[in-house]
Amino acid sequence: MSKGPEPLSAPPGETPTDPLAHIAGALFRPMGADGVYARTALYELVAERLERYITGQRDAQAEILRFPPVMSRQQLEKSGYLKNFPNLLGCVCALRGSEAAIHAVVDRHGAGEDWTGSLTASDLVLSPAACYPVYPMVAERGRIPSGGLLFDVEADVFRHEPSRNLDRLQSFRMREFVRIGSPQEIQDFREGWMTRASALAAELGLPCSLEVASDPFFGRVGQVIAVSQRQQALKFELLIPYHTEATPTACMSFNDHREHFSQLWAIHDERGKLAHTGCVAFGIDRLTVALFAVHGLDLEKWPPPTRLALAM
Ligand code: AMP
Ligand code: ZN
Repeated sequence: MSKGPEPLSAPPGETPTDPLAHIAGALFRPMGADGVYARTALYELVAERLERYITGQRDAQAEILRFPPVMSRQQLEKSGYLKNFPNLLGCVCALRGSEAAIHAVVDRHGAGEDWTGSLTASDLVLSPAACYPVYPMVAERGRIPSGGLLFDVEADVFRHEPSRNLDRLQSFRMREFVRIGSPQEIQDFREGWMTRASALAAELGLPCSLEVASDPFFGRVGQVIAVSQRQQALKFELLIPYHTEATPTACMSFNDHREHFSQLWAIHDERGKLAHTGCVAFGIDRLTVALFAVHGLDLEKWPPPTRLALAM
């Protein structure tokens, strides 16, 4: 008989360093890399119910798209990601060349030598957020109609930020509602969602606060951009503390990109004016972990309003 999977919790007798270690073993299985985990049936049950709950909040007008975990490298470069977050980006690499050349590389691995130096970048990157592929797609369609556009998108995303904390994964699911329209439409969308999100968190029994935030722009120049982003209040986050002493974790974000993406991709309204864009992102895994951290592992004992909201 094979040995059961090794839990993520600390071995008996050892003090767990992560205060969430007591729930980790029931939710995740290790896969040999920090921040990359297999999810258990219990975890997936809640993640699926949460997804359905979010779907229930979706505007009927929304166009639904589900993306693979990879996207065009050229599109992501053009979007400014490489300039702003080069440290977080993962690029898909592959072996090229003749059969003999590729065999030689594989043999190097067989001989205990490094083979990865022979990899070359492909034209794909691992998507770092769900909304990036939307903008070039919309631009291809021509001018946006009056009243703008709304999308419901999701992707398994990657960010190179290895950590042992359950709220900082390298590979996680991101669901987003993306709005493209006039500056007023984006403002209304974002403000509407900020109000709604607090109500949703209350319904799910999750304590939360809304705070102005910034993205982790790279380097010293990046810090200046982050300050400006904060001053203009272009990003808000819904923060949830996983336990009483915890520093709250950002579980949702509300982003106003202004003309950033429409300028890069030439997205215009019906009169030829540059559109604005904005998105609301739900970190599916952070929200799922939050539900377990706050309510415990026994679903039967979760507060009735939470169970009702999640149709459990
Ligand atoms: P952002 O694009 O940085 O605003 O991220 C959108 C959402 O994705 C956040 O509000 C989090 O819920 C989630 N998220 C971001 N980074 C991570 C991570 N390293 N691990 C898990 N979830 C994350
Ligand atoms: Zn987005």
